[in-house]
Amino acid sequence: MVQICCGDRTKMINPIEIRNLYFKYRGSPDYILKGVDLTVSKGEILALVGQSGSGKSTLLNIICGIIPHIRKGQIKGEVKLWGEEVKNFKIPDIAKRVGIVFQDPDTQLFSPTVEDEIAFGPENLMVERKVIEERIKKALDIVHLEDYRYENPNNLSGGQKQLVAIAAILAMESDILLLDEALAQLDDQGKERIKETILSLKEEDKTIVLVEHDLENLNIADRVLELRDGKLREYKGW
Ligand code: ADP
Ligand code: MG
Repeated sequence: MVQICCGDRTKMINPIEIRNLYFKYRGSPDYILKGVDLTVSKGEILALVGQSGSGKSTLLNIICGIIPHIRKGQIKGEVKLWGEEVKNFKIPDIAKRVGIVFQDPDTQLFSPTVEDEIAFGPENLMVERKVIEERIKKALDIVHLEDYRYENPNNLSGGQKQLVAIAAILAMESDILLLDEALAQLDDQGKERIKETILSLKEEDKTIVLVEHDLENLNIADRVLELRDGKLREYKGW
């Protein structure tokens, strides 16, 4: 048996390593990503900014393997999670390692109740029922939606749906968390609560990449990079 994650090697392997990544969707004329290089360390909060259409969501979808596993296109370069190429992972193995909250919670929520939505991920990861129950309680507490546990997510406001999507991802307890403008629809109180949660996940050595258009949310980031003309650059303000 080959041991991948033991001893000193784990210290050197980064959760996310991207080298010379090029990508274009089927049918798009030009490459959207044109030589992206990125290393994200364990316990780091990285913020990605960039104009609408610059490819931020595309990049997150590549990090979590939705591209090329589900959405196709032309992809070149290296994308590694913990030193292993994402394209070689099976989807359930990616789900154990990376959680993503999409820009639009309606694309994420499909269960009849908030509780089912939160339980879905851990159930698929074969987490014990008792532990799932604890995770549901903890996640509902973080997002302050205890009173909505048995509600249908469709009956909630946009901000509440976004909180359910975040709670569902938190319950999976993955080591890497990707947030695609996930705070956009939250009120100030909700934003602060999620930012505090992100900071506490950092303390647990989780790795977080957040795409943000609201500059006020960048204060929790260790580093901010801008995606421009298909490449990541140091962010120097607009
Ligand atoms: P951002 O998140 O920075 O706004 P996106 O990654 O969503 O940017 O989009 C980058 C570019 O790719 C845009 O020009 C967009 O129109 C295009 N695009 C996004 N998704 C698809 C898709 N599924 N098929 C074809 N083109 C797409
Ligand atoms: Mg986007």
